[in-house]
Amino acid sequence: MRFTGYIGEIGQAAAAALIGGDDVVLNLASGEYGKGFGFWAARHCRELLEIEVPYDDAIDSEAVGEMLAARPDIRILSVCHHDTPSGTVNPVREIGALCRERDVLTIVDAVSSFGGMDIHPEDVNADIFVTSPSKCLGGSTGISIVHVSERAWAKIDANPAAPTASVLSLKDWRDAWRSDVLFPFTPSVSEVHALDAAVQNYLDEGPEAVWARHALTARACRAGVRALGLDLWPARDAICADTATTVRVPEGLEDEAIRREARGRYGVVFSAGRGSLMGKLVRIGHMGPVARPIYAVVAVSALGGAIAALGGKADVGAGVEAALAVIDGAG
Ligand SMILES: *Cc1c(COP(=O)(O)O)cnc(C)c1O
Repeated sequence: MRFTGYIGEIGQAAAAALIGGDDVVLNLASGEYGKGFGFWAARHCRELLEIEVPYDDAIDSEAVGEMLAARPDIRILSVCHHDTPSGTVNPVREIGALCRERDVLTIVDAVSSFGGMDIHPEDVNADIFVTSPSKCLGGSTGISIVHVSERAWAKIDANPAAPTASVLSLKDWRDAWRSDVLFPFTPSVSEVHALDAAVQNYLDEGPEAVWARHALTARACRAGVRALGLDLWPARDAICADTATTVRVPEGLEDEAIRREARGRYGVVFSAGRGSLMGKLVRIGHMGPVARPIYAVVAVSALGGAIAALGGKADVGAGVEAALAVIDGAG
């Protein structure tokens, strides 16, 4: 197996702090990020168990319940909420509730959903909840946001393998923050100010309004993509993320050519697939400042225009109309 996922350094820090050498970890893999976390977890645990589903699908919480019942020695569960390269979301609320019943600690990657969807650590029983200012909050890159529950701190403090004297040490960050110990190193002052501004914008607009804006943009985009005559990547509507729309590359076309035409002709940038999904789909992001419903119309037009320019079939007029109808409340 090759390590194809990259989950960011805070995910690595979470795995190193929480997972001890005696722990059995259940990792849930429904995409490249979920799968990638398993590679970090495997470095620290005694045994790594995994539930893996095809990357156009989501984890079934019933299967998680069955696995937890069959293996009462599972101590930690890791799950990615929105597996960004797939554009799919996992039922983290249900999974979190199952874990709490059995006293299993959870690590939740909400990097590409927090701030764009209604997801918070307490609601999903997350013990470590990792997110970022640079995705849905529309802030800058360079720092991470992490929530650690009291239960998780107790486990970290009891874990002799938890790193210290390292930039990846959650303990050092906590201790520096709580005491008069000097900050571990020169802090990223500008990024901290940028995060403060991004959070202030989020609160000023109102979280509910921000989530609704992301949801409407995604709904308009999905309707537009379908009306173009294309297929969404996720197997079902219920698992489509509000913060990204993924589209299957039509037969006979190449994703790289579609992205090149969209960018060259219209200045619209789509993302590629990642790892095993490379070449199979194109991604339209709806995070932060680009999560505006009218941008769904822009994306659908550019996608349709690019495909038509390459000789593919795309009904641009129908796509635009369908996206507008959703925005107008008629779709
Ligand atoms: C972007 C992303 C990450 C990595 O975040 P970085 O800020 O690039 O470290 C991790 N998980 C998911 C689901 C992401 O979308």
